[in-house]
Amino acid sequence: MLGDFKNYLSNSLNQIKEEGLYKDERIITSPQSGSVTVKSQKVLNFCSNNYLGLSSHPEIIEAAKKALVTHGFGMSSVRFICGTQDLHKELEKKISKFLETEDTILYAAAFDANGGVFEPLLTDQDAIISDELNHASIIDGVRLCKAKRYRYKNSNMLDLEDQLKKAQNSRFRIIVTDGVFSMDGFIAKLDKICDLADKYKALVMVDDCHATGFVGARGKGTIEHCNVMGRVDIITGTLGKALGGAMGGFTSGRKEIIEILRQKSRPYLFSNSLAPSIVGAGIKAFQIIENNNSFKNKLDENTNYFRRKIKQLGFEIKDGTHPIVPIMLFDAKTSQKFAHQLLKHGVYVVGFFYPVVPKDLARIRVQLSASHSIKDIDFALDCFKKVGSNLGVI
Ligand SMILES: *Cc1c(COP(=O)(O)O)cnc(C)c1O
Repeated sequence: MLGDFKNYLSNSLNQIKEEGLYKDERIITSPQSGSVTVKSQKVLNFCSNNYLGLSSHPEIIEAAKKALVTHGFGMSSVRFICGTQDLHKELEKKISKFLETEDTILYAAAFDANGGVFEPLLTDQDAIISDELNHASIIDGVRLCKAKRYRYKNSNMLDLEDQLKKAQNSRFRIIVTDGVFSMDGFIAKLDKICDLADKYKALVMVDDCHATGFVGARGKGTIEHCNVMGRVDIITGTLGKALGGAMGGFTSGRKEIIEILRQKSRPYLFSNSLAPSIVGAGIKAFQIIENNNSFKNKLDENTNYFRRKIKQLGFEIKDGTHPIVPIMLFDAKTSQKFAHQLLKHGVYVVGFFYPVVPKDLARIRVQLSASHSIKDIDFALDCFKKVGSNLGVI
């Protein structure tokens, strides 16, 4: 049996390689930052979610160390048995205050928050209406729930309205969307989504993983950017991107929703508590962004600068304001060559192609960070110019 199974797996692996879809992992030997060491080469890093540059920030590291000393290394328990410390409650309160919601529940990851949100709240009498580009964790969460499923075309409000009409005979309806679509850097049309939710009596859930901490005037996310704070029923987010980048996720919203999740959400009930050091650093991350907008301002400055300059070089990008900047190359092979040559020059980015993005829409996805200096960005732009000319893109 084992021999057959191994053959079967080897064939699958070969097929993945033949299709050019095999994912190799680059090994970094430095902390996560604006530049990192890969194979003893120092390269500028333009592909992390370290938007605010907090992943290796001294204050975050200090807060993690402090919590490690005062609250120990691990909890060896789920929350409801003996895994809840004062720190966990403090972070949950901090997030609720920041997002101006009633309550918040922590998870080991946003993947778990999304995986555990639907099944406790909805049954086969209800309907979930989901954007076609939603994150894999939302898709998996929806699969675990018996509610009827409706999918609408990405940010297409006419299609969303059609799906809402189809779902009118369900008991409860919920519209679910990513706040930011990660391959395009586009922000969901939350104002219009909330209007449609009012019109067709639906709840709204937003996954703001690529926004909490830096999108919106005070960094409160796409809900602030789109001026819908208080109109969204459920917000999920991560501590694993802008907010220190270690790990951890949360669901925030109406208090009855959060209370039910604490009673019934399986990834919360049956998975370990977040480590105290991560929670302590998480509290610090929120303190930093509440009291100091210099990180967000630097990120915005870097984003605007890069977006303007890369277009001046003749590259086609997806327009917008988000630090995710897709540089369109269209051809899959070109995107791979492009990323490879950039790395040789000292710039670390990733090329994305089908099936991650639609066929013939291959791209390099650049992600700006507050930890980049203008000098770093100028260096990267210069490398883009060299590689772009070399490959005949510009
Ligand atoms: C990154 C991401 C997640 C997963 O977050 P983790 O905390 O790493 O599990 C979920 N949803 C979206 C939209 C994301 O971008």
